[in-house]
Amino acid sequence: MIHHKPLRPPSQDYPADEWNIIEKGFHPEFLAQLETMLALGNGYLGIRGCPEEGGPSSENGTFINGFYETWPIVYGEEAYGFAKTGQTICKVTDSKIIKLFVDDEPFWLPNANLLKCERRLNMRSGTLDREILWETPAGKQVSVKSRRLVSFADRHVAAISFCVTLLNAEAFLVVSSEMVANETRVPGNGSDPRLARVPTGRVLHPRASYSRDRRIVLCHATKGSGLTLVCAVDNAFETSCPHTCKVVHTEDFGQVAFTIEARPGCPIHLTKYMVYHTSRTASAKDLCGRAEWTMDRVTAQGFQKLLAAQERHMDDFWRRSDVRVRDVREDRTKRSTLAIQQAIRFNLFHILQAAARAEDAGVPAKGLTGHSYEGHYFWDTEIYLLPFLTYTSPRIARNLLTFRYKMLEQARARARELGHRGAMFPWRTINGEEASAYYAAGTAQYHINADIMYALRKYVQATGDELFLRDCGAEMLVETARLWLDLGFYSHAKGGKFCINAVTGPDEYNTVVNNNAYTNLMARENLRYASQTVESLRTKEPVAYDTLVKKTALQPSEAEEWSRAAEKMYVPYDEKLKIIPQDDSFLEREPWDFRNTPSDRYPLLLYYHPLNIYRKQVIKQADVALAMFLLGDDFSPETKKRNFYFYDPLTTGDSSLSSCVEAIIAAQVGDMEKAIQYGMSALLMDLADVGGNVKDGCHIASMGGTWMMLAYGFGGMRDNGGTLSFWPRRAPQDNAILRFPLTYRNQMLEVEIGLESVEYALVKGERMVIRHEKEDVQLTRDRPVVARPVSRW
Ligand code: BGC
Repeated sequence: MIHHKPLRPPSQDYPADEWNIIEKGFHPEFLAQLETMLALGNGYLGIRGCPEEGGPSSENGTFINGFYETWPIVYGEEAYGFAKTGQTICKVTDSKIIKLFVDDEPFWLPNANLLKCERRLNMRSGTLDREILWETPAGKQVSVKSRRLVSFADRHVAAISFCVTLLNAEAFLVVSSEMVANETRVPGNGSDPRLARVPTGRVLHPRASYSRDRRIVLCHATKGSGLTLVCAVDNAFETSCPHTCKVVHTEDFGQVAFTIEARPGCPIHLTKYMVYHTSRTASAKDLCGRAEWTMDRVTAQGFQKLLAAQERHMDDFWRRSDVRVRDVREDRTKRSTLAIQQAIRFNLFHILQAAARAEDAGVPAKGLTGHSYEGHYFWDTEIYLLPFLTYTSPRIARNLLTFRYKMLEQARARARELGHRGAMFPWRTINGEEASAYYAAGTAQYHINADIMYALRKYVQATGDELFLRDCGAEMLVETARLWLDLGFYSHAKGGKFCINAVTGPDEYNTVVNNNAYTNLMARENLRYASQTVESLRTKEPVAYDTLVKKTALQPSEAEEWSRAAEKMYVPYDEKLKIIPQDDSFLEREPWDFRNTPSDRYPLLLYYHPLNIYRKQVIKQADVALAMFLLGDDFSPETKKRNFYFYDPLTTGDSSLSSCVEAIIAAQVGDMEKAIQYGMSALLMDLADVGGNVKDGCHIASMGGTWMMLAYGFGGMRDNGGTLSFWPRRAPQDNAILRFPLTYRNQMLEVEIGLESVEYALVKGERMVIRHEKEDVQLTRDRPVVARPVSRW
């Protein structure tokens, strides 16, 4: 069921354009929302889309993935094993500021007489472009054109090309290129648990500051987390108008101000280069040195080279990842198809911005578009993002899984702390330690361990990267399988079945429950995969097996025990309703009174005490539905249908992670109306601000879910059993043609779901066998394209 406000089509505010998000005019009411939408990032560095001169909004922010501060979590009532240390992503030095003064009048959007004002998130170039025509109160017309990028090729680098031209008069101009650390912070978050705790007082403590020519370097460190940050800016200035330049800096501030006698028609061009480096171990001096090397290199290259590299990166990304739609009834210029294409690309582009260069880090729930959810990494990455990344950018998927592997030691320690064997990954974290202060909807979500192993399996199957499985994956599998075996037990009350009690599933409106079906099913997969992997290493790779035994003290009997627990896993089933109960007590609960819940009382978590929610039959986000999607082969179409129609009316979709999954199951059971309704909700989650909180950052998991909805839902893709297969089905009224590429074992396949047929094209590689419905289809270099008739509902 969809409870949120009706969708406002994006075209109402942003014209449909397949490669750009365009804001025409100045819209103070959408400022913070646009800062999120127009944010740039590369997975390491993220800059919200605030104007260069600053803006009336208070949500400005520049973030570095994994640059955080710690604080002691204070509980009113302590209990053993609660997370002790909070971790919050910090705003780093804001370096993008360029202020403009004409005859001493500041350019300030809310007051300016704007003859033209346009910003575009250019998804083809990977830039944020702006064009302004401002008439000063004295009637002087000033053109300002700027282009901003956060480099994908050079992850420490951002740059702005900024050009001012006086059109009809002379004027004295000041162009002031500035940087600020520890900018004044916005007040706290009220009672919305999704927002970040905002540290008060100074977070960045000065370590060094200096300037040379037009370059300024500021170095700071955090106290609690002990991280060091250097931000360096350099300013290349070009004009034939007479000018002077003044440089000042303090510990927290830097300014390079150009005073210009501007002549009409004579362009004034500033290129601002911004470099960030961070480290846990390097000294301030060393880190400043690194920033300077980077800066020397990029200033020598110049903006055009940075831009060219950015465009190459984007071209490559779109070639591997673009999902194209066209509607045969419409010509290319028709708004609705363009709007859908635009929304698809917007989602994919932001995933790239969140993940591309997240090296030695995870992907925060909001990417680097805002500090909501404190910059924490959740299961969002493995379940919602990794499918897209695995099939389009496997190298990024591998980096993210490697990051989890590096957390294994801490996960072992956390398991020990909680009295468990094996390893227990944190529900939310930046530095590898558990940071969730509310255990019921946090630490209790043990399923994250199985989620990570599920993503590992998908990655290994799709890439054939057996080396990663051998060298990193197997160890994680051993430790997570141990955790499940330790956590569960063979229950007399359930006929000797293996039960897992007191856990929280994905649905955070039913916490600390027994036998959450999703958890049990995913744990079963985890146990099976662990035992198969260990067995296969033992028989086929004895040296690797010995190493694994040394690393984990693996006993010969363990794999057998895991496989027994998996086979005996209790999967709840209700004979009367013929559905899978979400957990042991779900069906006994009193149904939520949806009829008397006003629509402005969603999300429920903001208006009802958790107990009022927990005791009722009401669901925050897809739970059984998610299991039916992820483990699709385990469920017959009838089972999917019955469960979908049982749970759908109880599911509020209060989490943005829900709609995409509902859309997939709806499509799989042939309810195309619901599939489209949920699909649009996922697709427009951020563009149309479905949840009303885009100002706090993009919903990156839902963005990944959008791709899943297109590929697995409408594209009919299946990969549960390890074979790539497709069962696309068309609804009678549906005229859209969908085409998407998949990287599979180093080769590339393009799938097009047409009106009458499905076309499979091997666009890179020698030979690939896939399955269309029940038939094996072989594609070779000699016969790269095969078409099959498309089935209809
Ligand atoms: C959802 C979680 C999710 C988190 C971060 C919560 O609202 O319930 O499943 O991991 O947001 O996106």
